[in-house]
Amino acid sequence: MDTKLAGKVAIVTGAGRGIGRGIALSLAKEGCNVVVSDRDEETAVEVTEEVKAIGVSAHAVPCDVSRAEAVARLFSEAVSTFGRVDVVVNNAGIFPFTSLSHMTESDWDTVLDVNVKSVFLTSKEAVKVLPDGGRIISISSIASLIGFAGLTHYCASKGAINGFTRALSLELAPRKITVNAIAPGSIDTPGTSTVSREVIEQSLAMVPIARQGTPEDIAAAVVFLASEAASYITGQVITVDGGWTVR
Ligand code: NAP
Repeated sequence: MDTKLAGKVAIVTGAGRGIGRGIALSLAKEGCNVVVSDRDEETAVEVTEEVKAIGVSAHAVPCDVSRAEAVARLFSEAVSTFGRVDVVVNNAGIFPFTSLSHMTESDWDTVLDVNVKSVFLTSKEAVKVLPDGGRIISISSIASLIGFAGLTHYCASKGAINGFTRALSLELAPRKITVNAIAPGSIDTPGTSTVSREVIEQSLAMVPIARQGTPEDIAAAVVFLASEAASYITGQVITVDGGWTVR
């Protein structure tokens, strides 16, 4: 499939490791230039070098996606470096386990700010710079579809991404900008490395395709949604979970 991504420019948030890194590398393999953004500048620079080694241009921009001024700087630096932005991938997110009875107001605010206020902030900037036919792709979770004890804030934040995605897709349809989300199941990343093997094994028992997903599994869906072939798909939440939520 010719994705027609060659020469385009994508911003990927939280791209210093895990799913975001996988997305940056997979877009690069399609010839897409990448703005590699992460809260952690060091990892963003490392992934930028990996992306350049594939043969496209890349630029690292440190950015805490929960802060409006940092997000505005991310977009202005992307435009001043590459002259355009075609694809925005909202990947940065956190998933700290806390029961509701131990959850503080600050715990709640931090998860909602990083996971969903960020999508509002980046989308506000994206609508200013994306050309007609551009793409906004947000990484939601199956936690937006089914419940997980200890993750009330996270489940709420990912459910909010799905609603935001559907509403914004209607606003941007006249410009042929598509707005979609991807809901991953259990994916093997540094972020999930703190989850005990026992919990991972329990969750794998729920997965018909009996393995954890990889960042590349999610990146493949991002590449497809970013591609020309997906120009008629908008407002959707696409589940990539090995069948977990089919049961
Ligand atoms: P990860 O391994 O923890 O990587 C997340 C990256 O995002 C890290 O580089 C992290 O930087 C960065 N980040 C965190 N907060 C940020 C902020 N405020 N601003 C900018 N960057 C920030 O996580 P992952 O497993 O790849 O998850 C990526 C996305 O997929 C998240 O939205 C997550 O909710 C979603 N997801 C993951 C799974 C899974 O099983 N892994 C399942 C469903 C959905 P630091 O190193 O500085 O923290």
